[in-house]
Amino acid sequence: MNNLPSTVGGGGTHADGKLPRFRAEDFRLHSERGPIEGAAVSDWPVSYDDLEPYYAAAERAVGVAGDASANPFASWRSSPYPLPPGPDMFGATLSAPAAERAGLHPYRAPTGANSRPYDGRPACNDCGFCGYYGCPIHAKGDPVALLSRALHTGRCDLRAECTVTDVLLDRSGRRTTGVRYLDAAGEPHEVGASHVVLACGAFETPRLLLASGVGNRSGLVGRHLMFHFQTFTVGAFPFSLHGDRGRSVTHLHDDFCVPTDDDLAAARAAGLPWFRGGIVEHGAAAHPVQEALTYPTGALHNECMRDSSLRERLWVFTMQGEDLPQAANAVDLDPAVRDVWGRPAGRVTYASHRHELAASEHWAPLLERVLRDAGAEWSVSSTSPPRDAPGAEAHPLGLAPASRHVMGTCRMGRDPATSVVGPEGRFHDVENLLCADSSVFVTSAGYGPTLTLMALAHRTASLLADAPLPATAPM
Ligand SMILES: Cc1cc2nc3c(=O)[nH]c(=O)nc-3n(C[C@H](O)[C@H](O)[C@H](O)COP(=O)(O)OP(=O)(O)OC[C@H]3O[C@@H](n4cnc5c(N)ncnc54)[C@H](O)[C@@H]3O)c2cc1C
Ligand code: SF4
Repeated sequence: MNNLPSTVGGGGTHADGKLPRFRAEDFRLHSERGPIEGAAVSDWPVSYDDLEPYYAAAERAVGVAGDASANPFASWRSSPYPLPPGPDMFGATLSAPAAERAGLHPYRAPTGANSRPYDGRPACNDCGFCGYYGCPIHAKGDPVALLSRALHTGRCDLRAECTVTDVLLDRSGRRTTGVRYLDAAGEPHEVGASHVVLACGAFETPRLLLASGVGNRSGLVGRHLMFHFQTFTVGAFPFSLHGDRGRSVTHLHDDFCVPTDDDLAAARAAGLPWFRGGIVEHGAAAHPVQEALTYPTGALHNECMRDSSLRERLWVFTMQGEDLPQAANAVDLDPAVRDVWGRPAGRVTYASHRHELAASEHWAPLLERVLRDAGAEWSVSSTSPPRDAPGAEAHPLGLAPASRHVMGTCRMGRDPATSVVGPEGRFHDVENLLCADSSVFVTSAGYGPTLTLMALAHRTASLLADAPLPATAPM
């Protein structure tokens, strides 16, 4: 359910909600850094300046808690965060100073969890079940919080446990007339619409389009699938870190999104013109269910869980490394596998570009040194997708990352030959069909995608309603 969320609110319901913005450079990667062989590095058709008012609006809608002056790499902002940061996790009080001693710039992560009561919801009590679980007290500014607000207007009709099976077109094939869906009992229904906005996530949106035979004159629906290439550096401490208290991750550093001259020299030594990493999350290692799955069954299980070395003594850096877009990385329809309703399942074909591998190899040793300086007795790194996992040889094209950041499968652009939707999120082929999820991303950047997809969705909705937000200026 975490990887392919299928609940009201989607993945944001069980995400721990680190909500950084992208940087201005991320929207102009081709112009700023140049091409890389084997990757479709491109600029976005929207700029950071275009998106800034919508970023600010999205932060206000969620109630993001953060410190606007803390991150030296952040692009300009028109307003402070609506809430101050919440309390630090204990492990971060060790890893953040150690990162600073290594010349890095950790800061309190902008997070969609109330540090004070906000929008009728209470302040977070740091229960520790932020990642992978819904918030038991609704302190998260998650999609359910926003949906509740929409439902209270009386102008929103939510049909839970329904599955859209087809986007319907009129005779011209250039306009949608609505969708067909199955209710919880599997009964088919149709609903008519003047506009249809798809927001099924970057895996299910292309699957629905391909199954419907809609929007794919370019042949690019499902292509340019991106995740984040995750590097996990684990440090084992000789004392309790109380990793089961807090909002899962309370600090980030962005240094690897902005490579130094030394980093770029390492990229060239690896045969690449440049590389970029991603944000590094300073966080706890596991939640109880994850931990339980790693221990043997029987009496020893209870002993291991009581000792809880995973939650109590491990601290983890997770680098969400930028994953370059490649046309061959794709979601398509599986020819054999069907879902519970008999519809073709989505199928992923994915191989990492050597950009991701080289960037991970370059930065992991530094992360290991930082954790040892923070007090860890030992540190070790692994990646997702795994580099040398048993069974990996059975997947000659590569394994897909376990990352829950999924992007790029209906890429945005001005040219209908090289993109699926235009700068407003409108499908080139179907004028009243729009997309409002991370399918439209052109590149993945090294940041969690959610605030950016919210800002884009807000912009798409505002332009559709002919009510764009006014341009903003730095505060
Ligand atoms: C544990 C976890 C931690 C995360 N942490 C972060 C983080 O710190 N920062 C960050 O930026 N991101 C994070 N993410 C990722 C984040 O949750 C996603 O980027 C975000 O949820 C994507 O939102 P979405 O609405 O586009 O798609 P989804 O969340 O995938 O929602 C899609 C919705 O559409 C519904 N749907 C799909 N197909 C159909 C259909 N055919 N008919 C009807 N309904 C359909 C689904 O049921 C779901 O409700 C995390 C995710 C998880 C699971
Ligand atoms: S730590 Fe607990 S209370 Fe706080 S937002 Fe997360 S789930 Fe809610």
